[in-house]
Amino acid sequence: MSAAKDLALMTDEQLLDLRLGDLRLSIKGTPLEQRIAKLYDELNARGLFFKPHVWLSEEWFTPDGVPGFAIPFYLAHPRLAKLERKQMFEAEGGTEQECFRILRHEAGHAIDNAFYLHRRRRYRTLFGSFNRPYPNWYKPDPDSRHFVLHLPAWYAQSHPAEDFAETFAVWLTSGSRWRRQYQGWPALRKLGYVDELMHELAGKAAPNKARRRVAELPKLELTLREHYRNKRQYYAFQWPPDYDQGLLRIFSSEPRHKTCPSAVSFLRRHRREICREVGEGSGVHEYAIDQMLIHLTHRCRELKLRVGLSPERTKQKVLVWLTVQTVNGIHSGYHRIAL
Ligand SMILES: [Zn+2]
Repeated sequence: MSAAKDLALMTDEQLLDLRLGDLRLSIKGTPLEQRIAKLYDELNARGLFFKPHVWLSEEWFTPDGVPGFAIPFYLAHPRLAKLERKQMFEAEGGTEQECFRILRHEAGHAIDNAFYLHRRRRYRTLFGSFNRPYPNWYKPDPDSRHFVLHLPAWYAQSHPAEDFAETFAVWLTSGSRWRRQYQGWPALRKLGYVDELMHELAGKAAPNKARRRVAELPKLELTLREHYRNKRQYYAFQWPPDYDQGLLRIFSSEPRHKTCPSAVSFLRRHRREICREVGEGSGVHEYAIDQMLIHLTHRCRELKLRVGLSPERTKQKVLVWLTVQTVNGIHSGYHRIAL
């Protein structure tokens, strides 16, 4: 029954049978605890007394109206981080640098809620309406200079609330030279506004003192197996219907190539590498890219496609094409849930 202390010794199958609520994890005593302390120090160094409350849950998110945020459970135990990587190919926030990026981002949502910042007129003018519905997908403009660059996948472009959180995160980062880095970018006006706003809030207590913890780990009854099934479904990719053209530009259906290796075996052999490279290039979750690859492989089998070019050239074409396809429809991700 008592799960936490034995986690390190359990097999994947045994772990998947556990309920999230039975994991009995705690932030205390983990590297997470120190990272959160450092986040508080960073806020304090800027004169902000605000300290968002944090708790463990399924994912990273800041619930609507709550001046605190949830952290995924797998960051509280190395055995669970390993399982996350096995199930989803990556553990979001697993490295120190990535963890700090997300902590600062969530702190942006939390301070927004704590001081009701999105109700201000200038916020709405610069970032847009906080209450705009969240899209399931967004199509970023990778060249846009109207948004800061912080989390991967041009995440600031997904929603006004994310734009604010991302801008805040860039502003908060110690040693960040945002004035120089964003010189000449329209995004600098947003950073300047956040800077002004935070000077105004320095030393002030937040009016929203709610300490609500949404979907706190001990209350979650689903098993890890169910959790991962849902998560994979969430990331499942919807293919545009007309990608055959793209495949035919990379692979060949011509009779003269019929003795060449099949596209299916090529994609299978390079699966992990393609997922990793496209994931790095686009910032999209590797699991989503793997889903695309699975669809792609099926379609290559149906079209009986072969590798007509050199393996290197083929790989290069697959990487470029998949990255473009991915950027054309990026899943909005977790980070914030509408309640
Ligand atoms: Zn967010």
